[in-house]
Amino acid sequence: MKLKLDGWELGITFSACHFLPGHSKCNRLHGHNYAIHLEIDGEPQDNGVVYDFVILKSIIKEIALELDHCVLMPGKSELVEVNVEGGSVRVKYEDKSYSFPKEDVNILGIDVVSAEVLAAYVLERVLSTIQNQPNLHRIGVGVDEGRGQGAWVWKEL
Ligand SMILES: [Zn+2]
Repeated sequence: MKLKLDGWELGITFSACHFLPGHSKCNRLHGHNYAIHLEIDGEPQDNGVVYDFVILKSIIKEIALELDHCVLMPGKSELVEVNVEGGSVRVKYEDKSYSFPKEDVNILGIDVVSAEVLAAYVLERVLSTIQNQPNLHRIGVGVDEGRGQGAWVWKEL
């Protein structure tokens, strides 16, 4: 049996900006409206429920809120230098440099802010929060960069 949470339908979305080093067009700072989706394969428990939808929604909603209206920067990139200096975040990439107010930036523990890596980041966050139950077989997270294009990642449990 599969549980599906569609971020667009549920309003589990966020708006954020990023850039992708090495990409001809996307290496310029730009934004997207993102949605987070979740799928779980598993068997219903004695109560007829695979996992409580309310809890699942609140987990991914909280992550979406953390990312919403932020400049998303990679904290583990070898190409992008991200430094917090006082109340500012200074970012250097090749011959470009940016400075943002610290409160506008979310520095993530990832190497590139792509939909693919964001999906893996959200999946790890979900796995660290979700209660491990023997009836759950597989969990997947999708992150869309706008409607119709996105990346999914799954983990067997
Ligand atoms: Zn983009």
